[in-house]
Amino acid sequence: MDLIQKVKNRQRLTQEEAVALYDLDLFTLGKLADDIRQEKFGKKSYFNINRHINPTNVCADICKFCAYSASRKNPNQYTMTHEQILNIATEAIESGAKELHIVSAHNPNDGVEWYMGAFRKVKEKFPDVHIKAMTAAEVDFLHREYGLSYDEVLDMMIANGVDSMPGGGAEIFDEEIREYLCKGKVTSAQWLEIHKKWHQRGKESNATMLFGHVESREHRIDHMLRLRDLQDESGGFNAFIPLVYQKDNNFLRVEKFLTAHEILKTYAISRILLDNIPHIKAYWATSTINLALIAQEFGADDLDGTIQKESIQSAAGAKSANGMKMDEFISMIKNAGFIPVQRDSLYNELEVYDD
Ligand code: SF4
Repeated sequence: MDLIQKVKNRQRLTQEEAVALYDLDLFTLGKLADDIRQEKFGKKSYFNINRHINPTNVCADICKFCAYSASRKNPNQYTMTHEQILNIATEAIESGAKELHIVSAHNPNDGVEWYMGAFRKVKEKFPDVHIKAMTAAEVDFLHREYGLSYDEVLDMMIANGVDSMPGGGAEIFDEEIREYLCKGKVTSAQWLEIHKKWHQRGKESNATMLFGHVESREHRIDHMLRLRDLQDESGGFNAFIPLVYQKDNNFLRVEKFLTAHEILKTYAISRILLDNIPHIKAYWATSTINLALIAQEFGADDLDGTIQKESIQSAAGAKSANGMKMDEFISMIKNAGFIPVQRDSLYNELEVYDD
């Protein structure tokens, strides 16, 4: 059957068929993705008021694409105390943040309690704030460093106030590329196992894909299909977040960077392929806000949030260090022809700006 017709019939595509989607012209592909997006969400575009906190950049692992870790090119090591984390959380919540997105490097110096105590203290002071914390890579790090099982780490997260897991650390699942990019870090199978265990606890998470470095189109499709398979089984992914590789201050040599055309095609294909993951997020910190706004017409229905402050992507060249003001964010979505919807971390609608 014709590939386009198969997408229109909402039939699932094989790996080969999915790769062939890249050969469609951008606007045909965009229309197919937009039809699915509109079927699910109309013109609504979701965002939340969140604050990213990155409590340490000291890292025991070495990923070639990373500009954030203090063990590589960044000589400025830092590790926040619980008091500093609590102060940032207080400031963020007082200025409206409903979600704290807490992600760290793999710091071998301060022990499990440094990680868990931070969540607990924030939650004790602010029981209503949603804590999204601990990538599967961090879970695996605590397992490797302190001999804890994945189950033990996940249960500790829940006991200490973590509500959901972010999607980081997935990078690209292909084992050969992964070995080249981030040997020693959580493997693809382990990343998927950790999220499955989290979902089995009735908890939700997101999934990322880092693309635009040394991977091929086939690797991107393989990555998405492995997520689709797990989602069929465990059902706990809320959003898929394609992260555009940032090129500054790292050790990865990439000759050719992605065009906006290829990035938009990738958003569109993810919308088509991931029929069981509700939201496709154009994370503006890596795609640029302009491209994220356009991505709304190519399948994306979520633009993440105001962020307030961000250290990981901005270390590698992204223009996200100081986040964005909410009014500005809302008017940009409106001006692009979409309806901004403020959501909570689990996509319950809090306010629809449709005036
Ligand atoms: S990507 Fe994460 S795990 Fe890898 S070096 Fe950077 S901080 Fe460490």
